[in-house]
Amino acid sequence: MTIERITDCTVLNNGVRMPWLGLGVWQVEEGEEVIRSVQHALEAGYRSIDTAAGYRNEAGVGTAIKQSGIQREELFVTTKLANHDQGYESTLRAFEESRRKLGLDYVDLYLIHWPGKDKYKETWKAFEKLHKDGYIRAIGVSNFKVHHLESLRQGSDTIPAVNQVEFHPLLNQQELLQYCRQNGIQLEAWSPLMQGKLDQPLIADLAAKYGKTPAQIILRWDLQHEIVTIPKSVRQARIQENAGVFDFTLSDEDMKALDGLNQNRRFGPDPDQLLF
Ligand code: NDP
Repeated sequence: MTIERITDCTVLNNGVRMPWLGLGVWQVEEGEEVIRSVQHALEAGYRSIDTAAGYRNEAGVGTAIKQSGIQREELFVTTKLANHDQGYESTLRAFEESRRKLGLDYVDLYLIHWPGKDKYKETWKAFEKLHKDGYIRAIGVSNFKVHHLESLRQGSDTIPAVNQVEFHPLLNQQELLQYCRQNGIQLEAWSPLMQGKLDQPLIADLAAKYGKTPAQIILRWDLQHEIVTIPKSVRQARIQENAGVFDFTLSDEDMKALDGLNQNRRFGPDPDQLLF
């Protein structure tokens, strides 16, 4: 697979195309800040935005999209169901609220934000209904481990199109990645830039070798592993920098060296511990 342009897409298990690169907006303030970040991203050529009900900035994302004048079909908008809204009826209500805030007729990808303990199967039924009714082009999950995916599979014929999980050089999720590949689930990396903690000597060496920045080395490593990636920044220069990953290729040897950095280290919570 060659990934050469910012508009290049993966094809999800239901045929929907999703850009390999998107902008993440967690911890970006509602209003001016999120509107500006999304504007910078769209100007830099990004066509995918990752928000969530829990980020409380869906309205700003929607405003920036509307103001951009870009055709809706060219954009890919992801949002996520907040944990406290899991359950059948509450999911239907929460989705409608997200859709209203975004000001969109449909959402491209809707994710269960965290599995939690025991409501995600019932929640998934509501996701299937919203998909069937045409309000969501693809449905997926986030922070699901293999055991959650297996358990979801027992109650449903719809395989999630995407699993968005913490993924970066210190946590390369080999078992989960392999499971997702075998089952047609696209893995998507959250906190790809380790929340900005980029100071690894190997990554610095590779940045010097390729004439790229540490962030670009990591994001290119994601792409060459065929993982969708959604770095967050509120700064125009970094938003542009993070999109500068389509004009070079890491050698197999350097890919392997980066794979070797894994320490199974999480910056965010372990999904088995975040119970609600
Ligand atoms: P990232 O790994 O994307 O890192 C973002 C941090 O890195 C920010 O502090 C940013 O600072 C800094 N940064 C961005 N670009 C560069 C660069 N080129 N060089 C140096 N520093 C840089 O962290 P996130 O946790 O935000 O993850 C990305 C996205 O993933 C989120 O925004 C969200 O959409 C999603 N996510 C999903 C979760 C889930 O549970 N499903 C959980 C967490 C994240 P600055 O903004 O100042 O530039």
